[in-house]
Amino acid sequence: MAESASPTTPRAIAILLAGGQGSRAGFAVPKQLALLGGKALLRWSLDTFSAHTAIGGGVLVANDDVMAALGSLPDGWISADPGAERQQSVANALIALADHDDAAPVLVHDAARPGVTAEVIDRLLAALAVAEAAIPTLPVPDTLVVQDEGAAGDVVDRGALARVQTPQAFRLGTLRRAHAKAVEATATDDAQLVRRLGVTVATVAGDARLHKLTYAEDIAILSGLLGIETMIRTAVGMGYDVHRLVAHKPLWIGGIEIEHSHGLEGHSDADVGLHAITDAILGALADGDIGDHFPPSDPQWRGTASHRFLEFAANRVVDRGGRIDHVDLTIIAEAPKIGPHRAAMRARIAEILAIPLDRVSVKATTTERLGFTGRREGIAAQAVATLQLPEN
Ligand code: MG
Repeated sequence: MAESASPTTPRAIAILLAGGQGSRAGFAVPKQLALLGGKALLRWSLDTFSAHTAIGGGVLVANDDVMAALGSLPDGWISADPGAERQQSVANALIALADHDDAAPVLVHDAARPGVTAEVIDRLLAALAVAEAAIPTLPVPDTLVVQDEGAAGDVVDRGALARVQTPQAFRLGTLRRAHAKAVEATATDDAQLVRRLGVTVATVAGDARLHKLTYAEDIAILSGLLGIETMIRTAVGMGYDVHRLVAHKPLWIGGIEIEHSHGLEGHSDADVGLHAITDAILGALADGDIGDHFPPSDPQWRGTASHRFLEFAANRVVDRGGRIDHVDLTIIAEAPKIGPHRAAMRARIAEILAIPLDRVSVKATTTERLGFTGRREGIAAQAVATLQLPEN
């Protein structure tokens, strides 16, 4: 064995950012907890980092709810509170790492990219042996043009461009200096802050598996990229709801307000159509009913706009790694006429569920003046929801 005279490099530290709200994806739980192949999204990165022998530990930046859902952290890992913005979250992690050596390599990574591999980590750490900063990039495969008021403008030279991924690797001291200088400035990633110090940021080959979870459909894309075998089953649920018609109340059906002499009575806005769809989705999930999740006895739901119930149910589907294939709503009413409002209801329901319009059906019928609906005492609605759900 050759004797090494060089001082030993401290083991690398990971900063795993799991503080975002995932608002674009429309997840009910933070998207970092969305299930991918039966495992919470942020676990993928956490497991890869903690299994890598060159990495001694890290900081998980996540709020208390995420920490509670995750349970314990691997050895050598601590947690830090997220900031309002990504940059503040990294700054909080740096405070948590105050007693670490400036020479330590640090990898800053977004939990929304679960496909981090040991090979990318190796390439970044190798680059840090000769550079103060390194980031993974990918070429741009598509032709790029400038948008020119809805028309295709000039072609941009894609050969001069690259897509930037994470993890991004730095010497801890370099990252500290970049953040200390950036107190008044903002950037969407740390490499930009480091470049402002005049530091050269090396690039290494990125990896398609580092695809970022932004939208709900990215779960399916990531499953394919990461080779997760997902068995899918079809689940169908039905919902039925009735509310009483009373004078001088607004009438909400199918997520829209309809001009009418009477409105529906109920604890919330009494939108019988959205309630039926909500129960249909919960039924397909075998996840109780609307009253279990939003008890009428709980004053906080008084007057609630029912799209919140439907959004909740749709988010439960996403959280399971599933998707809504179709909903079919039938409104049973003698009056008002539903026909003129069908298009608006379909559009609103599709919007709330974040699914295409052609997956939403709204139908209506009378009961030929028979029964309580025929006597205009109330309005009923029934719905069927068809979901695709991963097998556990
Ligand atoms: Mg109801």
